[in-house]
Amino acid sequence: MPRADGPFEIVEKIGSNAYKVDLPSDYEVHDTFNMGDLSPYYDSDDEEATVKEMLKDGFHDNKWTMSTKGYSIKEGHAWLAPDQPTLNWTNIMWNNWNIPKHSLTTWLRMNEGMNVKSKLFRFGCCTDDWCILCQRQPETVEHLFTSCVYSVRVQRCLLHWFGGTFTTVDRLSAENRNTLQWKFKVAMFNAYHYFIWFQRNNARINDWLSRPEVVAVRIEDDIKRRVKMKCKAL
Ligand SMILES: [Zn+2]
Repeated sequence: MPRADGPFEIVEKIGSNAYKVDLPSDYEVHDTFNMGDLSPYYDSDDEEATVKEMLKDGFHDNKWTMSTKGYSIKEGHAWLAPDQPTLNWTNIMWNNWNIPKHSLTTWLRMNEGMNVKSKLFRFGCCTDDWCILCQRQPETVEHLFTSCVYSVRVQRCLLHWFGGTFTTVDRLSAENRNTLQWKFKVAMFNAYHYFIWFQRNNARINDWLSRPEVVAVRIEDDIKRRVKMKCKAL
């Protein structure tokens, strides 16, 4: 006799905590079980229905509503997928000093979600993989935001204004997050990604590219305007 088997159909509810199950006749065991001995069956061919059934089961058994004030999608997700790695860079993007379109561009960059030419070329969607901004190297995410001469010129202009060295996710993650300087750097970092990606798309679609100095000034203006608004609100 196996320790677990199924699926079997529930044919009758017996009392408050037991069910009669439609077992094959050759099992030769009593066909009524306590609820604790039964598990719900999920059809692995239908992933969406499976997740729905699991959530329903978790909700009814209070498995993911116990630790909070009640229903919460966040708790439900944590219950369904408990061992997700903690990413140390998420609050670099998602904080109230950034605007969503800037944050989203950085998030795409960090998740390799951008359709850069090296990726499109691999899938046969374009005839070459050369960087549109510099025409010197294959366009990878790393190249576009780190080593492309065009982007490096934008970085230099920003550093001329802001000082120091151009920041990275690792540096931002390691620094004290409660300073105004950190928030300022984070806003610049996210805006940089958005404006570089915007220029790259503009060059690809409209065949038009602004000078790096002009892009840097746009980033500066954008951040100054936002910082002013924030400081007024504080
Ligand atoms: Zn380039």
